[in-house]
Amino acid sequence: MEIERNFAIFADPCVIRVNHTINYMQKIQNYINGQHQDSVSAAFLDNFHPACGQVYSLIPDSESQDVEDAYQAAKSAFPAWKNTLPENRFKILNKIAELIDESNDELAKAESKDQGKPVHLAKNEIIRAAQNFRFFATASMQFASESHDMPGTAINYTLRQPIGVVGCISPWNLPLYLFTWKIAPALAAGNCVVAKPSEITPMTAYMLSEICVKAGLPPGVLNIVFGLGPKVGQAIVEHSGIKAISFTGGTSTGKAIASIAAPMFKKLSLELGGKNPNIIFADCDFEKALKTTVNTSFMNQGEICLCGSRIFVERSIYEKFKNALVEEVKKLKTGNPESPDSKIGAIVSEMHYKKVLSYIQLAKEEGGNILCGGEALHPEGFESGWYIAPTIIENLSYDCRTNTEEIFGPVVSIMPFDSEEEVLKMANVTEYGLACSIWTSKLDRAHRMAAEIESGIVWINCWLLRDLRTPFGGMKQSGVGREGGWEAMKFFTEPKNVCIRY
Ligand code: NAD
Repeated sequence: MEIERNFAIFADPCVIRVNHTINYMQKIQNYINGQHQDSVSAAFLDNFHPACGQVYSLIPDSESQDVEDAYQAAKSAFPAWKNTLPENRFKILNKIAELIDESNDELAKAESKDQGKPVHLAKNEIIRAAQNFRFFATASMQFASESHDMPGTAINYTLRQPIGVVGCISPWNLPLYLFTWKIAPALAAGNCVVAKPSEITPMTAYMLSEICVKAGLPPGVLNIVFGLGPKVGQAIVEHSGIKAISFTGGTSTGKAIASIAAPMFKKLSLELGGKNPNIIFADCDFEKALKTTVNTSFMNQGEICLCGSRIFVERSIYEKFKNALVEEVKKLKTGNPESPDSKIGAIVSEMHYKKVLSYIQLAKEEGGNILCGGEALHPEGFESGWYIAPTIIENLSYDCRTNTEEIFGPVVSIMPFDSEEEVLKMANVTEYGLACSIWTSKLDRAHRMAAEIESGIVWINCWLLRDLRTPFGGMKQSGVGREGGWEAMKFFTEPKNVCIRY
């Protein structure tokens, strides 16, 4: 199938889709051994356009046999890929980055259509997907290992060899960005990959497979199997030949994966859920804190694992900050994802839409006072889409369910605090520990808070500022292991110590 032909389909306006027959819909195919093919069952799943609430494409409902075929292809490709000179690996991975950049428009439109996010936001994510490939392309040339001298006795050196065939499983919120965040380091380190994107947002992974063909990635080095988590994802995790699993998704799925992979002694990297605090001290730069908190709370409809869903504000500025935040949030436009003015897109699926609405209902039952939003929206032209108004809730106890369970939508709560000790207690109450954002102009306070907060990522006076070399991941139930930079290259290699006696 021609890449241009696929891309043309993404330009269809929303309403036309109503008239599409099943035969007219684009069928995504698995990418195995460099070929595009249907699943062995030849069965398909519906793929929805969240802004319209309608099916617009079909994805393979793959089986464990498809995973087995992908594994065999990866296994056959491994010896040659492992021994490919780093410079040649660099050239191919860098070419993939260039082709992603060249297709930014088409990929962004496809991502928006598949996920519900505004196109302008998707464009940034596609840039970052290309950056992932570019970053790890260079890593493949620069990765090095250690040596440890025992003076007069021996020298140890550490080989860091690729593991073999590895599994990469990704979620639906930042589809291509998170998919490439795993695949790029796995390939850069010399592994072959069996990958599975979320069944809810498969389109850009499919387009990536077309790009890989164009870039000259050898057949079998990357294999993408589409389908359901409990079928395809689980088959990847259970496969005895797949030696490492890099997973990003929900904490309960992470637990299920760990329960299968741990007794098989697989290497595991788990990036899981979050319930991130946003802590605003009275000595902050008010305007910067306010502007960023709007994004922290509602960017990508709050469907970013790093979004801050609990806003703690020091009591002396609480009323002022709360009122200003509500005023700003009421200005956020919701609707046509293609409009540059749209700030809030559709919720990714009907199931998730219902889940988010059920949490708003729970918040009310827990005594929450809805300051804005709190309801489904039906924007003009997108009446059947899964839209929820950005919602701010106050008057909730810091340890109630709404404040401790992950909602992963455009819903935040706001609470006052009186001291560092109190806000640390409230912020650290959840089982999660992924990220936090702290706003203060006092350096000593920033250091104290950063040291005491229970989260893998701490932003002071900023949010979502990412250097790809830094360790990325969560503590507590937000994950195990770290991604990013050398952390990822180390995860995807097996260290082997060689000791030579003088
Ligand atoms: P999910 O756990 O439902 O699914 C994630 C992926 O796992 C999908 O590809 C899915 O098909 C697959 N899967 C489902 N069941 C499986 C099983 N039994 N075995 C193997 N694979 C299986 O998560 P989601 O709903 O797609 O994504 C939202 C979650 O992801 C949120 O909890 C969010 O916080 C988390 N997330 C975390 C990070 C991070 O970096 N920590 C980043 C993004 C999203």
